[in-house]
Amino acid sequence: MSKIALVTGGSRGIGRGVAEYLHEHGFEVAITSRHEADEDAQKKFLCIVADNSSAEQRAHAVDAVLQKYGRIDVLVNNAGIAPRVRADLLDMGEDSMRELLDVNLVGPFFLTQLVAKKMIEQGSGTIVNITSMSSDVVSTNRGEYCVSKAGLSMMTKLFAVRLAEYGIPVYEIRPGIIATDMTSKVRDKYDALISGGITPIKRWGYPEDIAKAVYALSLDLLPFSTGEVINVDGGFHLQRL
Ligand code: NDP
Repeated sequence: MSKIALVTGGSRGIGRGVAEYLHEHGFEVAITSRHEADEDAQKKFLCIVADNSSAEQRAHAVDAVLQKYGRIDVLVNNAGIAPRVRADLLDMGEDSMRELLDVNLVGPFFLTQLVAKKMIEQGSGTIVNITSMSSDVVSTNRGEYCVSKAGLSMMTKLFAVRLAEYGIPVYEIRPGIIATDMTSKVRDKYDALISGGITPIKRWGYPEDIAKAVYALSLDLLPFSTGEVINVDGGFHLQRL
């Protein structure tokens, strides 16, 4: 029987890469996004238009998956946004902080709460949160993004502990610099940093790099591990002297 995965923000970028990879490896995949997904996605996935920052739309997404497949084996909390403007910490607006927290943290938190209850009922499931190196690394021109991702990292630990007794592992994948729409505006900056050696593995990351990590975690091959952080960042997090 195929496993059923729900990937938020699966229409483009990392989420799309995850959805494609899981689909190619025998999963039934449902994706969410705020806008209609393209035709190719419609053919392969159950495509749900749902804004992850809306409680009603999250509930609609979960209902749609359960109606079609009856279960959710893997939840990938991927949907996330960068600030509209990179503003210095001393000037950043409250609206931007609220928007980022709503989409990047509050949405995934309560979606996880909803799906976790279903997984408890099923007696199994795996949850994977896509955070960022910004969970740990300071960027003073996008502090709201850092705070939202640090919150998501704590959320991983919280649910890992709470769901351990039900045999539901919760993992964090912490991507580095990945080539997607999100990073397209700062491509030149990152090109220079990568060729200057900021990552020991000197290349951009690709959605498929994250997809392979999600797939690996979905295979239930780490039965005595939960709350783990998997860095998918070309070694960026390693301190060097
Ligand atoms: P993209 O901007 O390329 O894609 C974002 C995806 O999320 C799209 O499918 C988008 O579709 C969807 N989305 C955005 N907001 C919402 C929302 N409120 N509700 C539902 N879906 C939404 O981003 P990436 O693929 O680069 O990023 C994916 C995740 O990975 C994010 O959480 C990001 O923070 C994280 N990440 C990315 C890194 C990178 O270098 N690219 C590095 C570290 C972490 P639509 O616009 O139609 O809603």
